[in-house]
Amino acid sequence: MLMVLEERDGGIFAGDVRVFACTADGRLSSETRKALRLYDERLRLHTCRVCSRRFIGHHSRHGCSDECRKVVAQRALEKHRRPRRIKPEPKPARPRLSQCSNCWKQFEYKRDSRDYCSNACRQAEYRSRKAA
Ligand SMILES: [Zn+2]
Ligand SMILES: [Zn+2]
Repeated sequence: MLMVLEERDGGIFAGDVRVFACTADGRLSSETRKALRLYDERLRLHTCRVCSRRFIGHHSRHGCSDECRKVVAQRALEKHRRPRRIKPEPKPARPRLSQCSNCWKQFEYKRDSRDYCSNACRQAEYRSRKAA
């Protein structure tokens, strides 16, 4: 049971019926209930937490409309959800560049082969050194 109300002329209306609450927690006055034919004692006058429209319903924690109810549910979810730790992305390994002593080409080296881009260059350099 849900009835969204309209605020006008300094009062709250459900259609043409002026709605009065007789207690602070929003219990509807007997006149109002009679006029609206609301015989459910649990119904209260509420203010929507999301859009602050007035509505008659069972619980204030329910929004005034499907839209507002979704927002309320979403908020409740977020409250309960633990903040998730964001793992830092592993940095991509920087390619280690070296320059070949033989052909001056830049190349990416692995552990021990940092002087020459290839075995061919290593041997060529070795040979030329030997010749010199
Ligand atoms: Zn609302
Ligand atoms: Zn080379």
